[in-house]
Amino acid sequence: MEKRVYNFNPGPAALPLPVLEKMQKELLNFRGTGMSILEMSHRSKDFEAVLDDAISRIKRLLKLDDRFDVLFLQGGASLQFCMVPMNLEVPGRPVDYIDTGSWASKAIKEAQIQKKHVRIIASSKDKGYSYIPKGFVINPDASYLHITSNETIQGTQWKSFPSTDGVPLVADMSSDILSRPFDPSPFGLIYAGAQKNLGPAGVTLVIIRKDMLDRSSADLPTMLKYKTFAEKKSLYNTPPCFAIYAVDLVVEWLEEEIGGVEKIALINEKKARMLYECIDENEIYRGTAAPEDRSVMNVTFRLATEELEKEFLAKAAEKGLVGLKGHRSVGGCRASIYNAVSTEAVEALADFMRSFAKSH
Ligand SMILES: *Cc1c(COP(=O)(O)O)cnc(C)c1O
Repeated sequence: MEKRVYNFNPGPAALPLPVLEKMQKELLNFRGTGMSILEMSHRSKDFEAVLDDAISRIKRLLKLDDRFDVLFLQGGASLQFCMVPMNLEVPGRPVDYIDTGSWASKAIKEAQIQKKHVRIIASSKDKGYSYIPKGFVINPDASYLHITSNETIQGTQWKSFPSTDGVPLVADMSSDILSRPFDPSPFGLIYAGAQKNLGPAGVTLVIIRKDMLDRSSADLPTMLKYKTFAEKKSLYNTPPCFAIYAVDLVVEWLEEEIGGVEKIALINEKKARMLYECIDENEIYRGTAAPEDRSVMNVTFRLATEELEKEFLAKAAEKGLVGLKGHRSVGGCRASIYNAVSTEAVEALADFMRSFAKSH
């Protein structure tokens, strides 16, 4: 095998090497079927076993009881920005959002396009989305409250979720799902595009509390209604079979090799600490997120000038450290250190950052 780089891409992002190797091994003849999983019916018992395994592992890992359905949809997290208000608005009751950054504001825009009564109950736009709002008031009459658990671009993360006193929480967890444990009971719906922390692009995980299904009105288009997917176990039409298979291998790895979400959370904390310490101890770097709201998944930082950032990225790439450029909308640098990014990779980055600081 040619040398693999240390991959800090924001998404699609690194996958665990054992998962890639298992995919390679099984590609031509899937578990004795004599064909590839790419070539087989989504209604076959072999594919259904994969789907069932993925669902039950996700339920175990996230401690979801039978109040929740686990669905696999297409259209990315971005389609969820549209489907959430379409399906979960209760007529006559506003939909509430907290505006924490680029992704939250895109979710808000899709609810506004549908002419829902959107209330933005808190925002961190005033300081360039560098923090998570605190001390806001929850409206008891809201259809739901939407949050973005981790802002992938700005590098901020909710450390604990707001208590909503019965208003269902809806969360975009695209960039931190399965990275840490949380209590699912206040959530009406959780969604995540797979390509950051779960698997490859092409599938979106939706976890929905079953009572939310009754909110979708009958006149919604079939493919935009959660109920369609819930009633048919995500097999109403052809699902993204290969992506679901890859997600299954990722959650199998998380459960069996890592030992679950509590274990990976400790590893993730340690990885993030290494980088933030490096940023705080070396004047050449400046973290962009408020220290108490710093993301454990996306570490965002700047150097003094754009010239210096360019040099940093180029020198890093020479050392096999790739994917460190910040999002084009904000610039700077970003290390995405999702579950599949090893401690070894993060150590290599921290070493490089220290030696770069020393030589400047
Ligand atoms: C990447 C990302 C999205 C967009 O996901 P798509 O699957 O590309 O639509 C939405 N929200 C968050 C938090 C993300 O990180």
